[in-house]
Amino acid sequence: MSVLFFLAAAMVPGSLQAGRIENVAADGNAVTIKFDDNVAEAKLFSLTGPERIAVDISGATIAAGAPVASEFGSIRQAQFAPETARLVFDLNGPAVVSDARFSADGRSLTIALRPASESEFSAASARMPRRIAPIAQFRSEPPKRRYEVSAPIGKGNARGLPKISGPADSRLPLVVVDAGHGGHDPGAISPDNGAREKDVTLAIARAIRDELTKSGRVRVALTRDGDRFLVLQDRYGIARRMNADLFISIHADAAENREARGGTVYTLSEVASDREAQRLAARENKADIINGVNLGGQDNEVSSILIDLTQRETMNVSAGFAKLLLREARPNMLLRGTSHRFASFVVLKAPDTPSVLFETGYISNAEDAAFLASRDGQHKVARSVSNAIQAHFARRLAQN
Ligand code: ZN
Repeated sequence: MSVLFFLAAAMVPGSLQAGRIENVAADGNAVTIKFDDNVAEAKLFSLTGPERIAVDISGATIAAGAPVASEFGSIRQAQFAPETARLVFDLNGPAVVSDARFSADGRSLTIALRPASESEFSAASARMPRRIAPIAQFRSEPPKRRYEVSAPIGKGNARGLPKISGPADSRLPLVVVDAGHGGHDPGAISPDNGAREKDVTLAIARAIRDELTKSGRVRVALTRDGDRFLVLQDRYGIARRMNADLFISIHADAAENREARGGTVYTLSEVASDREAQRLAARENKADIINGVNLGGQDNEVSSILIDLTQRETMNVSAGFAKLLLREARPNMLLRGTSHRFASFVVLKAPDTPSVLFETGYISNAEDAAFLASRDGQHKVARSVSNAIQAHFARRLAQN
């Protein structure tokens, strides 16, 4: 069954069954979006800082065109995913959706807004997206989450996604662990014992996988399970394509100051928490640039309109996991004073997958290098990560 599905999906690559946005028109407090064909559904949500309302319409593609002015602010469009159009209302004051509905024939969506207080707006921004759909008869198939088809357990799969270890139960959370660097990119190298970052990260990633597999509560996949080079986008791309619930990239830092020691957890922010975090992000991001050629290329999906919409939910979950990881790691290994920092790491830029980058220590420091190159050290790091992951999912389960 899933094999047939694979083939069907593979035979029509990129075929879009989507209605195109024909027109966006503002009239008083209402905005009407017209489509030339059926669409699947719309998700409406509010975002703070600055105040915006976003509408994701699945089964729709955008039309080129200038932003449309409305009473509440201007409205711009972006193709959020191949079959999901996003409209963003850049509000000129707090406002909330008072009504949203599709027309009877599903060919237009009307959204009414009304001015709101700041507190009303922030309450709205804390809520889950509101979903609405045309009546079934005029609804297009929801876009296939083409990469969601789960990999058969125990085998690699035809699409080149890594194999999943753990119980064959797709309801269990999936963690993607990324061993930093690899192939022609060794990462940092210890001046003391010659340990290479790419080998240390792979050993730790494998140890994390083994710990998690033993727990039986989580499924896990590695972005690489060998000495292989991957561009940064492929790393988080794997997590996205597998619909991972958590992404962890493992690294081991190097510094001029050979006294510098200890682990740090980084989460994504466009504004680095300090110069050192910024420097590190710049260096890690360079992994894609080999002989001056940028192998990562420009990811249109990560254009500015989308980064500024990066779900606060994702950021919050990432930060929550970072805290748990530090809590679990503290008894097992040395951490730095400010052990949770923020920076703009390319590898953390999946907008919808909670992600952290764990610099497990300084390979430029003799003691850290010895710890990270040892089985015992690798095991301690792996147990910390594994405990944090289990605590993280237990907590999320309890919240739902
Ligand atoms: Zn690194």
